[in-house]
Parts: sequence; C-alpha cells; structure tokens
Amino acid sequence: MIRRAIYPGSFDPVTNGHLDVIDRARKLFDEVIVAVAHNDQKQPLFTLEERLALLQGTIGKLDNVEIAPLDGLLVDFAVAREATAVIRGLRAVSDFEFEFQMALMNRKLEATVETIFLMPKEEYTYLSSRIVKEIARLGGNVAEFLPAQVAAALRAKFKN
Ligand code: ADP
Repeated sequence: MIRRAIYPGSFDPVTNGHLDVIDRARKLFDEVIVAVAHNDQKQPLFTLEERLALLQGTIGKLDNVEIAPLDGLLVDFAVAREATAVIRGLRAVSDFEFEFQMALMNRKLEATVETIFLMPKEEYTYLSSRIVKEIARLGGNVAEFLPAQVAAALRAKFKN
C-alpha cells in the first residue's frame, strides 16, 4: 500500500516555510501531493496558474512530490487520490484554533483521512506568505525567505 498525503494550502506564494514542511512530509510518506487551492475568498496576489508554476519551478524535481490544483472539498480530493493523511504546518499557538477546527471538521466529513501537523524549523515559525507579501509591497527585501524564483516573481508584481 502506498502511503500518500495531501498538503493543501494557498501557497500565495510558496515560501521557505512551506518547503520545510514539504521536505519533512516527503520523508514520512511515499507520496506527497501539494494541493493548491483557488481560494478566491482570500483574493490571492498570484493566480492559480502562477502559484502552481512557482511550486513546480521550485520543487518540480522531487520524485515523490506532485503539485496539483485543488477544487472542491479537501476530503473529497483526498479520497479520490487515495490519500490517508492531510498535512498542515503549525507555526505558533495562533495557528492552532483554526487548524484544530478544520481538522476535526474534516474528520467528521471523512473519518478515513487523518490530519497531521508538522512544525517547521524554528527560523520559519514567523514566516507567512501574507507577511512576505506585505514587506515586498512596501519595498523590503524578502529574498532570504523565498526560493530565488519566487522572490523574483514577487519583485515583478510590485515593480512600477
Ligand atoms: P492556507 O490559506 O491554507 O492557510 P497557506 O499557503 O498560507 O495556506 O499555508 C498552507 C499550510 O502551510 C498551512 O497549514 C500553514 O499553517 C502552513 N505554513 C505556512 N507557512 C508556514 C511556515 N512558515 N512554517 C510552517 N508551516 C507553514
């Protein structure tokens, strides 16, 4: 039996924190599917196609990691792809309440899918796509928080 996990998120854009979680997950599972949500409610800076391309450009070479768009309910996607686990990253207590609610709701919807939380390296615990976008928008240097390709794409977004 192949052990497959889904790592869902907006990845708007992918940061070194996400990459850290992906790296941990791919050591625990045979296959990891990084599932990129449309997330229109959050009004993403990068389109779905751009977010997928940035992930592909950054981690496309890892043999047991797949990148896919996520449409509809996460648990339906997990069942369709025969995944038994959902990976989420936990940075701080502030993440906990929302993640706890999501995990229990997903379990209620689909008991066969277990949510697993992974903690990133300490230096990534304060890193989020939201804060990186905010710094970049204000002209700050975010290169050390992002893969080079993503930092360049972010600079291009705010250039004018
Ligand atoms: P979402 O919109 O689902 O929160 P994100 O792309 O912001 O999507 O995050 C996807 C997942 O990655 C979430 O579980 C989030 O907690 C986790 N994550 C984001 N940034 C980091 C980080 N720096 N370290 C560890 N986990 C992170």
